[in-house]
Amino acid sequence: MKITNLAPEFIKAMPILQKIKAAGYEAYFVGGSVRDTLLHLPIHDVDIASSAYPAEIKDIFSHTIDTGIQHGTVTVMQGKEGYEITTFRTESGYQDFRRPDKVTFVRSLAEDLKRRDFTINALAMRHNGEIVDLFDGLTDLKRKIIRAVGDPNERFHEDALRMMRAVRFEAKLGFEIEEHTAQALLKHHVLLAKIAVERIHVEFVKMMMGHWRNNGLRSFLNAHLFENCPGFAQHGNDLATILQLAATPLTNEASVWTLVAVACHLNDRQTSKLLRQWKSSNDLINVVSAAVKFLDTWQSNTLTPWNYYQTGEAALNAALTIAKLYKPELDITQYQQRYFELPIHNRAEMSISGGDLIKNLDLQPGPQVGKLVNEIEQRVVNGIVPNDAAAIYTDVQQNLLN
Ligand code: ATP
Ligand code: MG
Repeated sequence: MKITNLAPEFIKAMPILQKIKAAGYEAYFVGGSVRDTLLHLPIHDVDIASSAYPAEIKDIFSHTIDTGIQHGTVTVMQGKEGYEITTFRTESGYQDFRRPDKVTFVRSLAEDLKRRDFTINALAMRHNGEIVDLFDGLTDLKRKIIRAVGDPNERFHEDALRMMRAVRFEAKLGFEIEEHTAQALLKHHVLLAKIAVERIHVEFVKMMMGHWRNNGLRSFLNAHLFENCPGFAQHGNDLATILQLAATPLTNEASVWTLVAVACHLNDRQTSKLLRQWKSSNDLINVVSAAVKFLDTWQSNTLTPWNYYQTGEAALNAALTIAKLYKPELDITQYQQRYFELPIHNRAEMSISGGDLIKNLDLQPGPQVGKLVNEIEQRVVNGIVPNDAAAIYTDVQQNLLN
């Protein structure tokens, strides 16, 4: 098979392949870019694999960066663009179910493709668009199947992260995991516990953001992978309720975790704890717990402008996205409107500061001033006083001092 209409990303990288060839070595496009182009999906980065060893690549090109030279990866700079070229390699060892103990550079493309995870990821493309397909990846692409290259039991044993990659690709592509590969997933799910949580995190979020979230999530649950993820073991049934919701894709990570928290009936404190276990950034933890808090308040109380203000735009959007999954008829624009109509959206927008208060109202510096600023902030947000310095000074003198 030959691709005739190559995407511009490939065309731009073509001179690199040709230069490697001219020097007497082989070079191919490999991995996700080949798979995605065959599926008519947009491609992000093109990976190149070559029979040339890293030192040989560095001899061919004048501008290179040693990106991961011990694994065989050198980045070749072409103008501002960088291209990762990885030497054909085999891997062995895998004593910790994670990373190979040993990487060996080889001259054979077939050896390199053999170590790749799934048949659809083990396709290579020559500079002229010709596809090299040693494991029937093209058939699996057509049939929408995720199938391990070789024996799935061995492959998951070598690297347990591949189990998460399987469910992630299912969700990204709308594929199904082939039967033997699915059986191996179920059989080896406990090995996932050996993998660093940060790496599971990346795959889990990609799965949940996939266009076909439910394809991946169903396997993630059926294969018991969730049992080996932080804080999930007791929540299999809760997570399964997500399968019943509107299948609208999620476009950011905050929405993913807000959905998880809501499905698992977590409050904002429990949500923070879960996210810390998953080694999330503080930013993410703050946004998601604010979204969960907003949704809880919404359930039990009337929402005040102050609630919207404290939630902030990112958390509000995550909360509304998830609320709409549960209630598709919900019109979220009116809630967004209420946020945009707030008199201010953060403290920096207040027309007075603590320093202004001290100067103009002749106050003593100290914690009292901070308290006063808080009170003013609430009164401005709730519309009790306009965000105008003169009006605020009058309000303070009449209602807040003595
Ligand atoms: P994405 O679109 O997410 O980048 P991708 O298929 O390019 O998908 P990468 O993680 O970028 O995924 O990996 C590039 C290629 O390297 C894969 O297509 C696959 O051939 C190989 N690969 C990556 N991770 C593994 C792994 N854990 N085991 C075996 N092969 C892997
Ligand atoms: Mg990639």
